[in-house]
This record gives sequence, structure tokens and C-alpha cells, in this order.
Amino acid sequence: MPILGCHVGFKKDTQLLGSLQEALSYNADTFMFYTGAPQNTKRNVIEDGLTLQALNLMKEKNIDYSKVIVHAPYIINLCNENNFSFSVAFLTEEMNRCNLLGVKYMVLHPGSHVGTGEEAGLNNIVKGLNLVFENLKDNNNVIILLETMAGKGTELGTTTEQLKYIIDNINDKEHVGVCLDTCHLNDAGYDLNNFDNYLDSFDKLIGINKIGCIHVNDSKNDISSHKDRHENIGLGTIGFDTLLNIIYNKRLENIPKILETPYIDKKYPPYKYEIEMIRKKEFNKDLIEIIKKQN
Ligand code: FE
Ligand code: FE
Ligand code: ZN
Repeated sequence: MPILGCHVGFKKDTQLLGSLQEALSYNADTFMFYTGAPQNTKRNVIEDGLTLQALNLMKEKNIDYSKVIVHAPYIINLCNENNFSFSVAFLTEEMNRCNLLGVKYMVLHPGSHVGTGEEAGLNNIVKGLNLVFENLKDNNNVIILLETMAGKGTELGTTTEQLKYIIDNINDKEHVGVCLDTCHLNDAGYDLNNFDNYLDSFDKLIGINKIGCIHVNDSKNDISSHKDRHENIGLGTIGFDTLLNIIYNKRLENIPKILETPYIDKKYPPYKYEIEMIRKKEFNKDLIEIIKKQN
């Protein structure tokens, strides 16, 4: 069975324990969270007591903590000169926070070059990550997973080649991997109906062993749209069967699959229902109506 999870909150008073409890309420096997608001730098002190309680509950519920993911805040942009020192400093802090929590993987958007061009942008990311990894304490083994991006605006990390360029130029390669996002791949122009072709070429360029997480989202837009708008599972342009094919792909068996699909009416989390559909391998076209009724 695939390891299925979703995006959950991380609150000041409950922290990792609250995130875990939210995930358990969706019957998830794993989860992903931000350590604070993604758009600012305000962070609360990590309460070791709450972390310990969460670890005990994970043991009891058979949740593999090594599959739990943190998402780096999106105010970090290593690509752009203006934000560069701030981004390096804040990403270093976030990696230390992950390490304190004992989380192994942190997903990062490679960044947007905002006009300086692809080459300069990619070189800034490389420079930034190398600085971050040099700054880390010796016991920090957190792995940054560069997310495949839709190519909205001047986003980089939109092609496998760009990701390869970044990874090839990182000194400390044990600290980097990749997170595939199905909505972003579709919007970037990769045909997910031929997913095994994509994986073959990824394997040749980077290596499947570098994939640490998969974001499973349908897309509101057509292939190559460069839009990045997520849709609920089965209700978008990628479709249920294609997503199922990726989720159950034997080559990606032990990699956590995380849903980042939109809340229904901006209020009701869809995850419990989507996870159930995926486990049953059965699409329910009335998904949204059912969620509205049950909430
Ligand atoms: Fe992301
Ligand atoms: Fe994503
Ligand atoms: Zn997205």
C-alpha cells in the first residue's frame, strides 16, 4: 500500500502533536506541515514535551516519522539577489528547526529569478544552498527536496535539466533530493499519461533514488499552462486514473505521497475522502457534494 498523507497545520500550542492528530483524523499514514506561517518569519520555540508526546503517539499508531515532511516557507527565494542573505539565513534556521523536531526532509521551492535570467538564477540557488549546508551544525542531516515547479512567472526548477544543474553543483550532495509535484509537472508541460517515460528520463539525468516525496494534486489547467492551481483528486485535467498510476507506481513504492488539494468551499478539508478513494482505487464523482453534506 502507498504511504499517503496530506498537508496539515502546525499550531503554537499543539505543534507536532497537533499536526499528527490532524493527520490521524484523515486516516493518513504521514503528513506535511510548515513550522510557522509560510509568508513570515515569526516562529515559536519548539516544545520538546509536545514533540515527545507526538513521537510516542506515532509509535502507537505505526506512523513512520522518517516519511514526515516539512515545507520550507515560500518567502525564501535563493534565486534573487535582493532576498539572498535573508533567504540563506532563514533557510539555515528552518533546517535547524527541522533537525530539532527530528524531521528528515524539507521541501523547498527552488525560487524565481525575477528578471535576472535562468543561468544567474540557477547559480544563485547553487551558491545559496552551498552556503546553507556549510552553515549547518555537524549533526544536521536534514535533506532539502527541491520541488518541481509549474513555471509560473520566472520560477526555476521547472525542468529536470534545471534540477540536475542545481544538484550537480552542490558540494554536499547528501543534503539534496527532489520532490515531484504532479500538478506542477503537468503545468510545466510533462505528459503524466506517459509517467514512466518521465521517470526513465528523470532516472537517467538525476536518479530515482533522489526522489524523497511526491505531491499528489490534480490540476485546474491544461498541460503546459504554467499556472499552478491545484484541483481535488480526479476533478482536474490530470484525472483519477493517471494520478492512481503514479501513486501505485512500483518504482516509487516507499516514497511518501502528500495531498495538497484545495479545501472544499475554503472550509472543509478533502483529505480523509481523497485518501479513502485512493486506497479503494475508486473514483467518486460526487466527492465535493459528499464532503459538503458530511460537514
Ligand atoms: Fe510547494
Ligand atoms: Fe507542491
Ligand atoms: Zn503548487
